[in-house]
Amino acid sequence: MKISRYILPTLKEDPSDATVASHRLMVRAGLIRKESAGMYIYLPMGLKVLQKVTAIVREEMNRSGALEFLMPEMTSAELWKESGRWNTMGPEMFRIKDRNTMEYALAPTHEEAFTSAVRSLISSYRDLPLNVYQINTKFRDEIRPRFGVMRSKEFIMKDAYSFDMDEKGLDDSYQTMRKTYRTIFKRCNLETIPVEADTGAMGGSQSEEFMVASEIGEEVLLICEACGYKANQEKAEYQHGVPGNTEPEAPLAAVDTPDVRTIDDLTVFFKCGPERFMKSIVYTADGTQIMAVVPGNREINEHKLKNHLRAAELELSSDSAVEEVTGAPVGFAGPVTDRKIRMVFDTSVKGIINGITGANKKDTHYTGVNPGRDFTITEEADITIAEEGDLCPQCGKAMITRKGIEVGHIFKLGYKYSKSMSLTVLDRNGKAVHPIMGCYGIGVNRTMAAVVEQHHDDKGIVWPMTITPFQVCIVGIAKTDEEAAAVEEIYTMMKDAGIEVLLDDRKVSPGFKFADAELIGIPIRITVGKNYFNNNELEIKMRRTGESENVTKGNLLARIMEIIKQETDIIEK
Ligand code: ATP
Ligand code: MG
Repeated sequence: MKISRYILPTLKEDPSDATVASHRLMVRAGLIRKESAGMYIYLPMGLKVLQKVTAIVREEMNRSGALEFLMPEMTSAELWKESGRWNTMGPEMFRIKDRNTMEYALAPTHEEAFTSAVRSLISSYRDLPLNVYQINTKFRDEIRPRFGVMRSKEFIMKDAYSFDMDEKGLDDSYQTMRKTYRTIFKRCNLETIPVEADTGAMGGSQSEEFMVASEIGEEVLLICEACGYKANQEKAEYQHGVPGNTEPEAPLAAVDTPDVRTIDDLTVFFKCGPERFMKSIVYTADGTQIMAVVPGNREINEHKLKNHLRAAELELSSDSAVEEVTGAPVGFAGPVTDRKIRMVFDTSVKGIINGITGANKKDTHYTGVNPGRDFTITEEADITIAEEGDLCPQCGKAMITRKGIEVGHIFKLGYKYSKSMSLTVLDRNGKAVHPIMGCYGIGVNRTMAAVVEQHHDDKGIVWPMTITPFQVCIVGIAKTDEEAAAVEEIYTMMKDAGIEVLLDDRKVSPGFKFADAELIGIPIRITVGKNYFNNNELEIKMRRTGESENVTKGNLLARIMEIIKQETDIIEK
């Protein structure tokens, strides 16, 4: 491809709305253009990369035995009503009506659509195991589309759904996908960290997210470098410490605390550390009020709490609901009460001696509060967020935190969809049974952006050989028609050899061409200039290492082929 005949609108300046490197560079290198908030146009060079990532995903999915489909992106409301998700999907799902007022969703995901399709296609245990997938557009009305194509309203996902006869079969399908994902990301030269993820309260037993460590990541990961435990903060467990405090029990005493409500206010007022407080927060779980009690130096993990309660909905209670159940305004709740309210205590509350809590009375706190004596721990669970330095649940060593971008997700769904949508097959004994399901997603655009996030420098993108839009970029520096013809000859030679080559034949300065070549990040640059016209020497320069070497025209093809193979092998082997 000759740049003079191509569309490659590179930019010197960063786009004003781009805050992260991948977004900046993808726009500046002429890969994408913003159409409107959360929606992007892929220009020819961006599309080439997207197609290469897609090809790797497709190749590996096919290798794993999964079968490719192409599903409609408009999914009928009926399907969503069958699973019950028409009402629970919330505002992220785009809903539309046709001229006959039939309702549809622009699919944010395809569990229902695939379960329904498979329901009409299989009938016997002999049809299983089955893994079906597609590479298709998804629509999500994200609250905050951002970071370019990383979080957009319309994006391409590879989504797969497995169907098995039993848990063992599901586990095999899950492990196959886990392996396939590792290979896919490796081939894209993307270093990922698989972490345990929250499975939610409503079914699903095991789930892992593939994370790319990055400062711009929206997820927090807890990592134990000693034993390898890795989990998303939503899910991460930790060993709750043993109390070192052995002071004698003090009597329970009510103290006037006018307008002292928050933990910060309290530590100032009582001149003590936050760990002495029993923070008591009232939630509404599926319509019922509950109180969660955690040490004052800890944050409540609402995912853990929700899972513990097996609740579909969990939210902070309104001020009036708090007042109704505790008898006091917000800020004065506590576990010492005669009122009937379900309480869930974090595992570490029992270790607090002479604690301080709200007295369920306006402007009053209790001091000298002791679990067992002043209230009973009726229900105990790990309901707090694990933090940097917390002890690994597996080996007890201190964990570290990292930020991460989720690029893929594998999930054991269980029977949620096969049961709610009445998908059955006949087992060996002729009895109708529900298959057990898994689902597996990869964000294709987000993967592409994550590669840029991981492989760039201050000059631009550094494409891995496996997904680069072009393998070679020729910078021609010709002054005469004769020289231009000599440059073109090199270009034609490479093209005819099947090399993906981009020729910069624009009538601009060499410096401009070199800067653009670095910005767009093609792995191999060949300079055809004075040295070639006078001495038959071509310069090969590697974008990744900055190393350069000179070759003659006669040796060029063989050397380039060799480099392409080496650069591919580094990634894939
Ligand atoms: P997130 O927590 O980032 O919103 P999610 O949990 O909603 O992700 P899944 O439903 O598991 O994501 O989707 C599978 C994959 O699709 C994700 O791992 C991610 O790579 C990609 N993805 C999800 N939402 C978007 C989006 N708005 N834009 C681009 N890719 C997305
Ligand atoms: Mg999401």
